[in-house]
Amino acid sequence: MAVPKQRTAKSRRDRRRSHDALKAKSLVQCSNCGEKRLPHHVCPNCGHYKGREVVVIEE
Ligand SMILES: [Zn+2]
Repeated sequence: MAVPKQRTAKSRRDRRRSHDALKAKSLVQCSNCGEKRLPHHVCPNCGHYKGREVVVIEE
């Protein structure tokens, strides 16, 4: 098994982890039903995209 030759210093470890934080998902409102959806995605609630229905939602 590979074993680290040198201990990782706290500062080096923390600098590596400075990019590990998760960002909140960006959500926009659907122009058809007002539900929150991901930008550039078909609305999962009503199936609309760019003002027209592209996916028919089954009941
Ligand atoms: Zn919608």
